[in-house]
Amino acid sequence: MKKIYLLFVIMIITLSMIACSSNLDVNSYPKVDEGSYKSGSNDQNYIELSKVKDDIWVHTSYENYNGYRTPSNGMLVITAEGIVLIDTPWNNGQMKELLKLSKKIFNEEITTAIITHAHVDRIGGIDTLIDNGIDVLSTSQTAQDAEKNGFATPQPKLTSEQTILIGDKNFEIFYPGEGHAVDNITVWLSDDKVLFGGCLIKSMESQDLGSVTDANIEQWPLSVEMVLEKYSNAEVVIPGHGKWGDIKLVHHTLELFAN
Ligand SMILES: [Zn+2]
Repeated sequence: MKKIYLLFVIMIITLSMIACSSNLDVNSYPKVDEGSYKSGSNDQNYIELSKVKDDIWVHTSYENYNGYRTPSNGMLVITAEGIVLIDTPWNNGQMKELLKLSKKIFNEEITTAIITHAHVDRIGGIDTLIDNGIDVLSTSQTAQDAEKNGFATPQPKLTSEQTILIGDKNFEIFYPGEGHAVDNITVWLSDDKVLFGGCLIKSMESQDLGSVTDANIEQWPLSVEMVLEKYSNAEVVIPGHGKWGDIKLVHHTLELFAN
């Protein structure tokens, strides 16, 4: 009888230890059940957050661009060492709102930012990042172009093909060649099979290539082919503008060149 009692006590202790450790995990890794958030009063500080996975979110902001209210996407990745931001919203008002919103929802700070090319829809909020002591990383090409385009300069620490580990997440940086811009890179989250295509990749609803001011139209499809070859197993593909989806977005982008 004593033996059975002892066994029972050991079982209870073990079970409560397991329960405690999983509680700890939940606390240090905030889980959000709601799928989307909105914040801000007008487009100057309005920001949307939508869940792709528990720890991967898309931020969307709007700007009157060439006469159209144009949405733009960036990404937030919640890691064990803070939040990684892929691209800023259009401006600093929106970036400030995004800092506040992400802190409120995830109870974590943005510690690192990656800029995928030096256009305003990717880097327009960089001053806010620098003011808040956030590491802003890019390739040296993007850093040079940022300066040329009148933006503060990111740290040119990224190479054209490189995987960086931040917290528990691998971020694979890939420069496939010129396309929408001279310097456009993609970011691949290998553990989640999520591809941030940025402006190199168009959304399914896109009927044309969008802004081609700095584009290399001959090279662009070849660069998209490179991305397709590398990440054909992508489960989620996030374009610079419009709705995200799956690998079909990459095929759709290629089809836009066939027209
Ligand atoms: Zn661009």
